This record gives sequence, C-alpha cells and structure tokens, in this order.
Amino acid sequence: MFALILLGGSFWFISYHQALQERAEDVQFLYKDMLDFRSDLTMITERLKADNCSPAVVAEAARNARLLQFRTYSFLRRAEKNSLPGIARWLASQQVLLTRVLDEMENSGNASSDIIGVMTLQLDEVILKTGVELRHAHGDVSEALQQFLLVALSLLVLLSAGAVSIVAHTYRQTVVPLHQLALKLRRLNKDLPESIHDTVEDVRKYRPSELSGDISAISETIVTFCNDLEMKNKKLDELFIKDEKTNLYNYRHFKEHLIVDVARARRYGDAVSLAMLDLDHFKTYNDANGHIAGDQVLERIAEIILEECRSTDIPARFGGEEFAVLFPRTDSLTAHRIIDRLRAVVSAEPFNNRHVQPDGKLTISAGIATYPSDARDWFDLVNNADKALYHAKTTGRNKVFNFQQLAAFSAAE
Ligand code: GH3
Ligand code: MG
Ligand code: MG
Repeated sequence: MFALILLGGSFWFISYHQALQERAEDVQFLYKDMLDFRSDLTMITERLKADNCSPAVVAEAARNARLLQFRTYSFLRRAEKNSLPGIARWLASQQVLLTRVLDEMENSGNASSDIIGVMTLQLDEVILKTGVELRHAHGDVSEALQQFLLVALSLLVLLSAGAVSIVAHTYRQTVVPLHQLALKLRRLNKDLPESIHDTVEDVRKYRPSELSGDISAISETIVTFCNDLEMKNKKLDELFIKDEKTNLYNYRHFKEHLIVDVARARRYGDAVSLAMLDLDHFKTYNDANGHIAGDQVLERIAEIILEECRSTDIPARFGGEEFAVLFPRTDSLTAHRIIDRLRAVVSAEPFNNRHVQPDGKLTISAGIATYPSDARDWFDLVNNADKALYHAKTTGRNKVFNFQQLAAFSAAE
C-alpha cells in the first residue's frame, strides 16, 4: 500500500515537473522570439528613417510588418497557453497597432515611424516582464525539485523510523522475553522444586499484551506445566511423609523429627517427651469385625489424636495399630495429661461393634518417656516409652504410664 502511494506520488511529480520545465522552455522561446521581434522592429524603423520612406522601402517595411503580424498570433497563443495574461494583452494590442501601421502603409504608401517607436518602447517593457516570467518559470522548476526532495527525504526518515520501531517492538515482544524464558527454564532445570513456584511468578509478570502471540503461548504452557509440576510435587511430598491409612506422619518422617528434636533439646537444654500408643485387644476386634472395620477404627483414632494434640505436637503412625506422639519442649507431666485425656476420649468413643472387646469398649494403652530425664538419646527414648507402654499393657490396659512411674514401681517391688 505504502509502496503504491510512493510510486503514484513519484509518477505525479515527474509529470508535474515535466510540465513546469516545458513551460519554462516555452517562456524562454517566447523571450527569444520577442528579442528577435524587437530587432526586426528596430530594423524597420531604421530603414524607414534612412531611406526617407521611399515607396520601395515602405513596401518592404509593409511586408515585414505583415510577417510580424503573423508572428504575434503565434506569440499570443503561446502566452495564453503558458498563463501569461499581461503579455497576451500586450500582444493583442500590438496586433491592432500593426494592423493600423499596415493600413497606413498600404493606403498612403507612407509609414509612421512614431507608431513603430511606441511599439518598440512597449515591447521593451514586455520583454522585461517576459524576462521576469522566465526567471519565475525556472524558479518554479527548481522549487518543485526541492520540494520533491524534501518530501522524499521526509518519507525516507518516516520509513526508517517505522522500521526501527518495528524492530524495537519485535525485540521487546519476542527476543527479550524468549531470552528471559530460556534463563528461567535453565534455572528451573537446575534447582527444580524450589524454582517451580518462582518460575511461574516470574513468567506471570509479563502481561499477554506485551508479548507476541507465540511467546505468549509458550509462557502460558510454561505456567501450566509448572503449576502441574508443583501440584504433583506436593502430592509426592505428602505421599512421602504421610501414612496412607490414617493421614498421620509415617514412621520415616516421624523418625527424622525425633532425631532432630532430641538433638535440639540437647543443644538448648529443653525437655522432649515421646508417647507410644497401642490399641488394646485389637486383634480381637479385627477377628470379630474384619479388617475393613478395623481400618475405620484406626482412621477415627488418628482423628481423635489430631484433635487432642496441640499444633506443635507431632503425631504419627508408628506401625500396625501403634501410634506415637512427639512433644517438643514438653515435660513428662504435660505429655501425660494430654495422652490421658486422649485415652479417655478414645474409651468413650462409640465405635461400631465395640461390645466384642473384652471390656465392651475399644481402648488404648500408652507409655511416655522424656528426654533427658528418662533417656540419653532418641533410640533410648523410644525403648523406654515402649517399656512404659508394656507396663500399661501388663497392668490391665486402658492406662497411661510414664517411664519414671515404671522406675518407681520397680523400686517398690
Ligand atoms: P494387645 O492389647 O496386647 O495389643 O493385643 P492386640 O490384639 O492389639 O495385639 P496383637 O499384636 O496380638 O495384634 C495386633 C493386631 O493389630 C493384629 C493385626 O490384625 C492388627 N493390625 C495391625 N495393623 C493393622 C491394620 O493396618 N489394619 C487392621 N485392620 N488391623 C491391623
Ligand atoms: Mg494392640
Ligand atoms: Mg501392637
């Protein structure tokens, strides 16, 4: 479209320029012819003066004047064609004068050199005017050329500015985002889990309107891909640390906490307590009601544990029908109070078919040990909590024992 306009404009200018040039040439010829015309007039005047108007000279002057009259017709047409109204007017008046001169010459055989003199004077003035017109005509030609060059230059500048802005736009919308996306992807690949979230945030910083279509589509794909990956990672994390049946922490994760919390308690001189919990006569319940019903009991007990423990406590399924709760920065009495309340809630819970149990209800027994009073390390802590649990089992079940109480019992025996 732009090229078509440019082509059309150029053609128009070339024809306009040609017309101006033709006009200038025409005016130039007219100017030259007028100079000739003037010298012819001068010649006629001088001949008439020199020969004192002999009939032969007058006849020759009349012939010349006739020729001049013919020439004024052609001058007049050219002046009109080239829009020179002043000159055309003068030429028309000269035709009248020449006719008079001719009439006079032919009728009287004489010629008035005065009229020819007046014509010569007027002709001088017209020659001057034609000279001015000629300068104007040449000036028009060079002015048009200058204007064309100016327009062409402006167009060229505009075109260059447009090209630069297109390149800058493409660079901003495509090259820069593509480079940054590549950097993000490289980082994502290097440090996957931590960078997924950051990558999504970074990519989202671009507004779709700032990007080209393709880059926008790539960004969206990256966001979707990262979101997917993040969600799956979360699920994987959960699977890795949670017990499927009870949704409590699994033994692996619990053990990590246990080791870290005992080390921290050692470093800061804190107490950390551990409770081991075991369902009483659970085999009887399973045998009577089936393992599915047994699983439902495990799920409900996990819920009760979560409800009764504080948010800073760490409950876990230790294995089978055994649970463990870690109490960071907690002494044995506090842990005992929490677990005993938990035991009471479980024994009051209306589990299905609980009447099959020896006591007519489902109960738990628990043993508690505390670091550093009851154990030297995490391993010792588990063992001693287990011993307290065993004591709760052997002394009638549905009980909670602290390892310290166990020591007091042993001393009494
Ligand atoms: P005690 O009071 O001495 O602990 O008696 P108990 O019957 O609970 O102990 P025992 O070790 O004899 O039996 C444990 C039972 O726990 C056996 C097994 O069927 C049951 N059990 C362990 N894990 C699961 C489980 O994931 N689901 C179900 N339904 N039962 C389980
Ligand atoms: Mg049991
Ligand atoms: Mg058991």
